[in-house]
Amino acid sequence: MSLDQKIAEVLSLLDRVQKDYAPAVFASSFGAEDMVLTHLIAEHYPAIKIFTLDTGRLPEETYKLMQEVSDRYGIRVRAYFPESDAVEAYIARHGPNGFYDSVDLRKTCCHIRKVEPLKRALHGKRAWITGLRSDQAPTRKDLAKSEFDAGNGLQKFNPLLDWSLSDVWAFIRQFDVPYNDLHDKGYSSIGCAPCTRAITPGEDVRAGRWWWEDPEIKECGLHPAKGIKGTKGHYRSTIPIGDDPVIAGQNGHREEHPQGLESREPEWRSEKIAEVE
Ligand code: SF4
Repeated sequence: MSLDQKIAEVLSLLDRVQKDYAPAVFASSFGAEDMVLTHLIAEHYPAIKIFTLDTGRLPEETYKLMQEVSDRYGIRVRAYFPESDAVEAYIARHGPNGFYDSVDLRKTCCHIRKVEPLKRALHGKRAWITGLRSDQAPTRKDLAKSEFDAGNGLQKFNPLLDWSLSDVWAFIRQFDVPYNDLHDKGYSSIGCAPCTRAITPGEDVRAGRWWWEDPEIKECGLHPAKGIKGTKGHYRSTIPIGDDPVIAGQNGHREEHPQGLESREPEWRSEKIAEVE
């Protein structure tokens, strides 16, 4: 299928969402896929509102892009923040970077800074839209373009599910869409600064997210993978977090975050890059 045909399919789906699922929202974390959808929604579907989860640990490049989006499209992306009491309690007990110490503590931090704010962002909505692609991770292989999100109680749409990474970057180039500067520094996926690193050529596009964890289980709770079970090397956490017991692994060793990796050529980037939460 050509890129034009894929774009037409996405527009058709967004049209249906705007008409049949109002109020609908789009969750952006300012990765490349999200910029494709931001462009299409801002240009064609103003009734679909865009929001982001500001965890308080985002990289400066993401705030810069947030401002660029506002300037380019004349829209304001709404930011949802974590509850300050929960963040203060977490830091008092586990320290500012406690998420490196175990998978449970990492998932707890993600719950406080992402999952709970997401629930507020989705409250009262009939549908939400994401920039997930199926080949981003093992945890995303079984997703559908339209599915009921039972955890949040509304319909969830993944319009770019069958897009390749090359499609994403071809779109960005063709329509001169702004994108996160981190992609030019080797970041394939955009997330919180302390939990995201650049990848090296040949690494999986999700390798830079929570790189100390098993790829089969590393999601932040925003997009729970289907069919994850307690398998060899993993266990179900016994730590309840609100209404969402977490799924945890045992390999939570710490690794330092690499800094200052050099920029890479756009050709390399087009093969490797980009993704969201
Ligand atoms: S990605 Fe890291 S800093 Fe961000 S919410 Fe999750 S654990 Fe916390």
